[in-house]
Amino acid sequence: MQQLIQQLLAELGEDPGREGLLNTPKRVEKALKFLTSGYDMDVDEVLNDALFTVDYSEMVIVKDIDFYSLCEHHLLPFFGKCHVAYIPRTKVIGLSKIPRLVDIFSRRLQIQERLTSQIADTIREKINPLGVAVVMEATHLCMSMRGVEKQNSFCVTSSMLGGFRDNARTRMEFLELIKLRTAVRASTTGEPVAACTND
Ligand SMILES: [Zn+2]
Repeated sequence: MQQLIQQLLAELGEDPGREGLLNTPKRVEKALKFLTSGYDMDVDEVLNDALFTVDYSEMVIVKDIDFYSLCEHHLLPFFGKCHVAYIPRTKVIGLSKIPRLVDIFSRRLQIQERLTSQIADTIREKINPLGVAVVMEATHLCMSMRGVEKQNSFCVTSSMLGGFRDNARTRMEFLELIKLRTAVRASTTGEPVAACTND
């Protein structure tokens, strides 16, 4: 990988041999390996000692989870907040495990839509709750740094399953509790976009 990065630097018109760039290939390799370390993480290993049977059927919410991911179209970061909620049927997940779950899927090459549904689908698979909701709000550097649709470089995606999809009141309660930043933004910059541009 280091050789490729050295070559890339040269292709960009740089001198890979100058002092400031000498260790760059090594650093970039290390950074990229960390940013894609989700491929090597196992969901069951992270979750299995933290699934508990409980007699509790109210909404569980973990909000404002910071996440950082890489857009698979440009290999540039997109990052922001993730909000997760579910209504237990018989099992809950240890609260500290939810941000770990977000890391597993965000430390990969991603698109925001898939990342959002992978988190929701995994929670559904692992504890079979009455409903799951995941909302992600993110800034995409591939849009904001390149000046593409600057105002709309803030993307919101959601995955609503079970009770959150079928019951408008449950969904509204969740959206009210997480108080999306977007609700404010939408009124000044128009509709938020739900996808990363593809060029
Ligand atoms: Zn992109």
